[in-house]
Amino acid sequence: MSSNNRNIKLNGIIIRKVPFKETSVILDVFTNDLGIIPIMAKGIRKEKNKTANFMEIMNEMEFVLYKNPSSDWYILKSSELIKAHLFEVEFRTGILMQAVAEICRQLIIPEEDSEMLYELLKKYLEYITKVEVNGIAIFWRFLLKLFIIMGIEFNISECVLCKKIDGLKAYYPQKHGFICESCYRSALEKLVIRMTKEQSELFRNLKQIGKMLDEITITKESISQINKIFLIHLSEHFHKKFHLKSLEMYKV
Ligand SMILES: [Zn+2]
Repeated sequence: MSSNNRNIKLNGIIIRKVPFKETSVILDVFTNDLGIIPIMAKGIRKEKNKTANFMEIMNEMEFVLYKNPSSDWYILKSSELIKAHLFEVEFRTGILMQAVAEICRQLIIPEEDSEMLYELLKKYLEYITKVEVNGIAIFWRFLLKLFIIMGIEFNISECVLCKKIDGLKAYYPQKHGFICESCYRSALEKLVIRMTKEQSELFRNLKQIGKMLDEITITKESISQINKIFLIHLSEHFHKKFHLKSLEMYKV
């Protein structure tokens, strides 16, 4: 970020766009420097304004902004398109991009994490366009990496109760982790989310899943169960409900 007087120059990816009044737009932008910020783009919906064409979700832009010290708003002064990530991508790839935007919209990003998270987001958007099968696993891997950067990692390699390494059978929300078969048997069933062998394996391999995409099969049931576990993990940490509507259209 560079700034002179009150002008701020930074890079960001648009994750939400809402029309405001007659001719303006409010954007939520994931920036490389300030976390997620609200930007008011005044008058860009006027007929002759070409800027409006670039103000689309998942567009990576360079922004020049003005910050009024007495308000939370950043006002758009000018912008330049770096990359339109959603442009001409396949339908399924688009959904996987929207899913990440949807999660980010619900997060509060601390300023100190914004540079690393921004790099992670950019890498994901590049990578996901090259993936042909099982892209959903790359979305989960993104979440796993995001959790690590934000310090809310869940341990996918050992039982959160007895530390045993193999055969994790369920997710235990209150302990922010997974439990093994024997701990599962003694735990209250209603407090945990049971996983099939397939789901347990997917979690175990998630860090290196990029190399295995051609070999694995992910069922519809596994997708909804694993999404559920990720969302509960987020909800437990941030004490609010997280949702993921964009993936309802995703087909295996
Ligand atoms: Zn155990």
